[in-house]
Amino acid sequence: MAVRKILQVGNLLLYERSKVVDFRSDDVKAIILDLKDTLEDFMDRKKLGRGISCPQIGLLKRAIYIIEDGMHLAFVNPRIVKRSREKMMVWDSCFCYDVDIFVHIERNRDIEVEYQTPEGVRKMEKFSGPLSELLQHEVDHLNGILSYQHLKKPMRIMKRVEWEKQGRPYITQGWKK
Ligand SMILES: [Zn+2]
Repeated sequence: MAVRKILQVGNLLLYERSKVVDFRSDDVKAIILDLKDTLEDFMDRKKLGRGISCPQIGLLKRAIYIIEDGMHLAFVNPRIVKRSREKMMVWDSCFCYDVDIFVHIERNRDIEVEYQTPEGVRKMEKFSGPLSELLQHEVDHLNGILSYQHLKKPMRIMKRVEWEKQGRPYITQGWKK
């Protein structure tokens, strides 16, 4: 459909709560396709990235698109219904920071997510490790939360050049493949 512009940190729309996707009145296929096109374009240009959410393209709707290990996953109206007590530390970046800044934050290790497919089929699924932290990042977007808002003292951030130098660390503590 279309490659959309990605809003940058500071844009007030990113701090708003998105609305539930209505399968009767929303063009779900078009929304998902815009997310997919924009994500693929970004990954192509920046050589980085795995997921995108509607508010990042200026659309306050609850939908997410993920490409992980060549797998394409779409989540409509996702809701994290369970979070493990176990935590993990991750280096997290965002298209809204142009993947130039990474923040070191805590995430739940495992989550259970209830969502709908683009066809409207209800699903419930468990996620662990990389997909878990990625989904927590994207669902945060739907609630108007950016990852840097999870920073706790001592707040650690780094630029992408430094992250590349350190061997592209994602999960630094609390989870192993
Ligand atoms: Zn993001």
